Amino acid sequence: MIKTNNLYFRYSDEKEEDKYALKNINLHINDGEFVVIIGHNGSGKSTLSKLFNGIFYPTSGKIYIDGLDTSDEELIWEIRKRAGMVFQNPDNQLVATIVEEDVAFGPENLGLPSEVIRQRVDEALESVKMGEFKRKPPHHLSGGQKQRVAIAGILAMKPKCIIFDEPTAMLDPSGRKEVIQTIQNLNKVDKMTVVHVTHYMDEAVNADRIIVMDGGQIVLEGTPKEVFSQVETIQRLGLDVPQVTLLSHELKKSGIEVSTENLTVDELVENLCQLI
Ligand code: ADP
Ligand code: MG
Repeated sequence: MIKTNNLYFRYSDEKEEDKYALKNINLHINDGEFVVIIGHNGSGKSTLSKLFNGIFYPTSGKIYIDGLDTSDEELIWEIRKRAGMVFQNPDNQLVATIVEEDVAFGPENLGLPSEVIRQRVDEALESVKMGEFKRKPPHHLSGGQKQRVAIAGILAMKPKCIIFDEPTAMLDPSGRKEVIQTIQNLNKVDKMTVVHVTHYMDEAVNADRIIVMDGGQIVLEGTPKEVFSQVETIQRLGLDVPQVTLLSHELKKSGIEVSTENLTVDELVENLCQLI
């Protein structure tokens, strides 16, 4: 679904190597995969997300979305149709005064007939469980509800892939939960490819794969168990590990033979019971 070859990107035209926001990124995200990207502030996560969506073009190297080269300006709408993007702040993404008009914005830009647009809008709002709010003004909604409307706006374009750049960063805990559930359903039920940039480690444990970025490069990649069992490396990169993983790591250091690959409370409990 997404492939990058020797991708480099810099915001300015200065020639120094250290000005690159992204350096030598080579990755391959498969159809239907759920990939989480983590990394501390300034590591290049948002820059990479915007390159996936054709908002920025590579300085050198290539990105292909569903086989389409993002540096070809003529393909930009085809690319955005296939890979939608949801940002941090829902208020910046909602443009219309009524929820359903907002969701219709994308398909209208695709020039679809109005009955098709109406059907897509209804389906998209149902799938994020916001159907009953379709005639409400977005500013009456909670943060989590607004973010779900923003997701519906992308879904109405029927993309194969959605890129989420810290979509829960501005939400309260219940809004976060709603949005995470919505994202998981899109992947598990609707089989969409999901790329989720987050700084909440507990949102990363259900991923098929985690990519860790630092200084514009990919520094670690693997399943959640493979990545989080490297507690010291993760901490050196300025990141947290899930609490259960940290506890397992401390228990192991104090001589208790638990696995360092526990990610959930249930796994740790089961593991400890086996030791008794
Ligand atoms: P992250 O999303 O991981 O916090 P970013 O992709 O936002 O990281 O930033 C990566 C690097 O690019 C940082 O060094 C940041 O200062 C720089 N950067 C981000 N946006 C811009 C911009 N619009 N102009 C110049 N430099 C930028
Ligand atoms: Mg960012």
